[in-house]
Amino acid sequence: MKRIMYLNGKFVQESEAVVPITTHALHYGTGCFEGIRAYYSEKENALLIFRMEDHYKRLMQSCKILMTTPKESINELCEITVKLIEKNFEKADLYIRPLAYKADPAVGNFNLKNLKNGFAIYTVPLGRYLNVDKGIRANVSSWRRIADNAIPPRGKITGSYVNTALAKSESLFAGFEEAILLDSEGHVTEGSAENIFIVKDGMVITPPVSSDILVGITRQTIMMLCQNDLSIPAVERVIDRSELYQADEVFFVGTGAEVTPVVEIDNRPIGVCKTGPITTRIKETYFSLVHGTYPKYKEFITRVRP
Ligand code: PMP
Repeated sequence: MKRIMYLNGKFVQESEAVVPITTHALHYGTGCFEGIRAYYSEKENALLIFRMEDHYKRLMQSCKILMTTPKESINELCEITVKLIEKNFEKADLYIRPLAYKADPAVGNFNLKNLKNGFAIYTVPLGRYLNVDKGIRANVSSWRRIADNAIPPRGKITGSYVNTALAKSESLFAGFEEAILLDSEGHVTEGSAENIFIVKDGMVITPPVSSDILVGITRQTIMMLCQNDLSIPAVERVIDRSELYQADEVFFVGTGAEVTPVVEIDNRPIGVCKTGPITTRIKETYFSLVHGTYPKYKEFITRVRP
């Protein structure tokens, strides 16, 4: 399928959505991006975009760190995304990738303020990112999570995904499916591209926003569902490494990862080594929400029809 993409104010063919080799962001990681999912509903023959506006709000926050401002407003970005999906409509779950990047030629210019900005959005089909059904085995990475005063993980900054790639590759080479990264003091932060929750004595616990994490939209959705809909106490607090081993359940959450149970960490079974009852409830509620069958949160979903 020939896709249409959005680049610097225009809808163009995929083959025309190219940037020069000299582009600053390509050399120095000076871009920021989002990852948004749209789920295909066969019943409605529509693509259901999840929390689009919140993703664009976070993009604007990431842009602040990089001193970048897309010329489109959040509303305009939402409208452009809907048009883009209409143009590329597919009966498949989609991933939407907006990218704001420093577009000037690379060499010798590190003044974020003076660099020209570029902006793109494109879509690709995306099925499961991790095994949400069976759960996965993870290890604690030997790579530390980058600190807020090095490259802020709070911003979804392209260059910081070297940290993701190093950790994820190491885990895969060692026979695990995902990495858990600690901060420089040894506290749990998150997975390579997902937030983490542990369950202990009926309570769900996740590291706070000051623990060098990306402040995930799925993380916030899960906290909200636990508190408002599932009567599961949910807290944010610092988590130690050994708490992972002693947890009753552990799960990852993210736009890509959705709700993925972690059934083993560093070769230690978590709970009974399969998806636990609280993870199951949270996962089922989350899937029902993103598939548009949860009327209470209908403002989270934008429907796009062919
Ligand atoms: N942490 C990192 C490092 C990520 O890349 C992601 C994926 N965007 C997440 C957490 C989860 O964030 P969200 O739920 O907003 O997708």
